[in-house]
Amino acid sequence: MAEDISRSEEVHPPLGYLLDAHDGGLNPFNYWGDDPIPGIHCPECCSPLDYDAVGKNVKVRGQNEAFDADGHLIVSERLRDWCLASGYNDVRFPCVNERRRLYELRPTRVLQVDIERSEPLLSDFCIKCGNFDSYLLGRGTFLYDISKPLPDGIYRTDLVFGCRLGKHYLVIVGPVTREKMLAEKLRGLQFRALPAIDPHFERRKAEGIKSDAWWRRKQRAMERLRRMRARKGIVDESQPTTKLFRA
Ligand SMILES: [Zn+2]
Repeated sequence: MAEDISRSEEVHPPLGYLLDAHDGGLNPFNYWGDDPIPGIHCPECCSPLDYDAVGKNVKVRGQNEAFDADGHLIVSERLRDWCLASGYNDVRFPCVNERRRLYELRPTRVLQVDIERSEPLLSDFCIKCGNFDSYLLGRGTFLYDISKPLPDGIYRTDLVFGCRLGKHYLVIVGPVTREKMLAEKLRGLQFRALPAIDPHFERRKAEGIKSDAWWRRKQRAMERLRRMRARKGIVDESQPTTKLFRA
């Protein structure tokens, strides 16, 4: 118990970072257009039926090196060339706009999302294509069987996220890769730290408690109860429960 409580206060290093960019704000950048394309999207729920299909006329505004078009990571020629020159060869860069020389960053190394921990929210199952209308982030993006920071590299998730036409994989980079990208001053890239390891997951699961905040509240309540009992029992107060907080 003592070890568990002190461990919960530990700061875990991020396992990796979700790679993102500005999405156009109130006038968002569009990847596929407004309507489903026959042969590429389900006419009912607009889910892409072929994730290898590439948008050919993606338009973005601004002079950044990276953009988010409906969740698809669009990069400049400079960023693409930097990735290839830096040895990130397991990424494909299909052209999505000939005139502006824009490319989509599509990693081929796949990381498995831990569904049990992440609890993605799925809504409106489509009987026509067998996908869902929406795949939303639930408790976060936890990766399956990854407990150490990812090695230098660019990866994608095995699960898509987003709604209707905007479904896409998430792009993830290792902490070292992020440092290299920051050093290169690639304008427009945004990094979000992936949730660290969830140290209480197994115990919470055993106790049937889903929320980490709830579990922590319960631990604190039990600690208060122990202190109260210790006082009432007139147990030696010089040896109170501070032991619980010792590392
Ligand atoms: Zn469908």
